[in-house]
Amino acid sequence: MASRVIPVDPFDLVIFGGTGDLARRKILPALFRRFVAGQIEGDVRLIGAARSEMDRDGYRTMVRAAIAEFGGEEEGRKKDLAAFLEMLDFVTIDARGTTGWAELAGKMRPGRIQAFYFSVAPVLFGDLAKRLHKHGMANQASRIVVEKPFGRDLETARDLNRVLARHFEERQIYRIDHYLGKETVQNLMAIRFGNVLFEPLWNSQYVDHIQITVAESVGVGGRGDYYDRSGAMRDMVQNHLMQLLCLIAMEPPAKFDPDAVRDEKLKVIRALDPVKATDVVRGQYEAHEDRPDYRTQVDNPDSLTESFVALKVHISNWRWAGTPFYLRTGKRLRERASEIAVVFKDAPHSIFGADAGRHRNILTIRLQPNEGIELGVTIKEPGPGGMRLIDVPLDMTFAEALGPEEADFPDAYERLIMDVIRGNQTLFMRGDEVEAAWAWTDPIIAGWAESGGAPLPYASGSSGPDDALMLMHRDGRRWREIKP
Ligand code: NAD
Repeated sequence: MASRVIPVDPFDLVIFGGTGDLARRKILPALFRRFVAGQIEGDVRLIGAARSEMDRDGYRTMVRAAIAEFGGEEEGRKKDLAAFLEMLDFVTIDARGTTGWAELAGKMRPGRIQAFYFSVAPVLFGDLAKRLHKHGMANQASRIVVEKPFGRDLETARDLNRVLARHFEERQIYRIDHYLGKETVQNLMAIRFGNVLFEPLWNSQYVDHIQITVAESVGVGGRGDYYDRSGAMRDMVQNHLMQLLCLIAMEPPAKFDPDAVRDEKLKVIRALDPVKATDVVRGQYEAHEDRPDYRTQVDNPDSLTESFVALKVHISNWRWAGTPFYLRTGKRLRERASEIAVVFKDAPHSIFGADAGRHRNILTIRLQPNEGIELGVTIKEPGPGGMRLIDVPLDMTFAEALGPEEADFPDAYERLIMDVIRGNQTLFMRGDEVEAAWAWTDPIIAGWAESGGAPLPYASGSSGPDDALMLMHRDGRRWREIKP
C-alpha cells in the first residue's frame, strides 16, 4: 500500500545556482519526483537564478535534460514532465552585482511561502542574504536554505551565522545536512524512541562501544580542488558523522519538535571530550591499477590533506562514560557502505561454559546500500551436538520487510525540501549546533597543522591505514568488515 501524500501549500522557490551541478543532479529531480508523487501541486513557481545568460525556455530545456539524466524520466511520466516544466522560470542574476535583482523581486508573489535555496559557492551566501533584504524579499514568509559547507572552522561559521542573522531570524534559516534527510537516519530515532526494547539498554552499562562507518569507494573525482582545501574531517566528520553520533547518543527529547531535538543534539556535542592525538588516524589513498593516487588527483604533489580519518571519541556524561565511539570515513575504500553498529556487552555470565564461545548482540543500522536494520541475536546451533551457540541476524532490510514499493524511499533532498516548505526545521542544523561542532573539530585539525606530519598512505580498495585497525585492536576490539 502506497503511503498517503499530503500536498504542501503553494510556494515560490528560488534556486540560486539553479544551473549548477547540485541543482541539476539533486534539487530539480527531487522537486520533480515530489511533483509526480502529488505533493507539489497547484500554483507553484520554481525560479532558477544564476549567472548564465538564459531565458525561461532555455532553462526548461536544461532542466528537462537534467531530469532525463538524474530523475528517472519514464514513458508514462512525459505528461507530468510537461506540467512540471511549466512551473519553471529563470532570472539571470549576479549575487555580487545589481543584475537581475529587481526582476526577481518583481516575480515574487506576496502572501505565499517564499523559499530561497542558496546552491552557490559559500562565499556568496552573505551577498545573497544582503541583496534579498535590500530588494524586500527577506520578509516574514521567506526562508533560506543554505548548502554545506557551513564555514571551514569556528570563526568562519560564526561570521556566516552573524551575516545571515542580520537579515533572517534563526527560524527562517535551513542549514542542510542531507544525511539527516535519509530515511534510515530518521528511523534511528523511531527505533530508539518508538520501542521500549532498546532504550533501557542504550547506555554504557550495556553498550560496549559504537562504530560509525561512512565508506566511499570513489576517489575525489572532479571535486579535487574543493576537497584538497577541506579533507575528510571538514567534509564528512564535522557534519555528517557528528550528526549521526548525536542521534545515537542524545537523550530522549520531550517531543519530536525542532528545538527539543536540536537542544539534545547540542548537549551531546558539548559533552564530547577533546580527542587525543593518539586517538586519531588520518590517511591518504595511493594509486591503484589505472587509478591515480590522491595527490595526483588533486594536482597537489605536497598535499597533506586527509582522504581518510578514523577516531575514537568519548562523551563525558552519565549515559556514555566508559563507552567509546569509533568513527571512520574515507574515500577509495573497499566498498561504498555506511553503517552504525551498536555493539552490546557480553552476557555477564555464561551458563553454557567456555565451549559456547563468546557472543554478543549487535544492532546494525545500514544507511547505504540496502537501507535496513539488523539485530544479531545468539541462538542454539540446530542439531543434537549439545548446547553450541551461534549468532544469527534478525534482518529487517526495508525492501523485504515493507515491500519494494514502501521501501522506495524518497531521496534525502525530496524530504528536506518539502520540510522547508512545511516550515519544519527538525532535520536541519541550528546555528549553535554547527558552531559547537566546529569548536570540537578545530583543535584536531590545528593539531595536524602544528605537528606538520603527513597522513598515512593506504591502498585503494582497502579499509584504510593499518593504524586505523590498531585504534581498535589496542582496545581489544575490531572494526566490522566494510561490505556492501
Ligand atoms: P556549481 O559550480 O556547479 O554551480 C554554481 C552555480 O552558482 C551556477 O549555477 C552558477 O551560475 C551560480 N553562480 C556562480 N557565481 C554566481 C554569481 N556571482 N551570482 C549568481 N550565481 C552565481 O556548484 P554546485 O556543485 O552546484 O554547488 C553549489 C553549492 O552546493 C555549493 O555551496 C556546494 O558546496 C554545495 N554542495 C554541492 C554538492 C554537489 O554534489 N555538487 C554537494 C554538497 C554541497
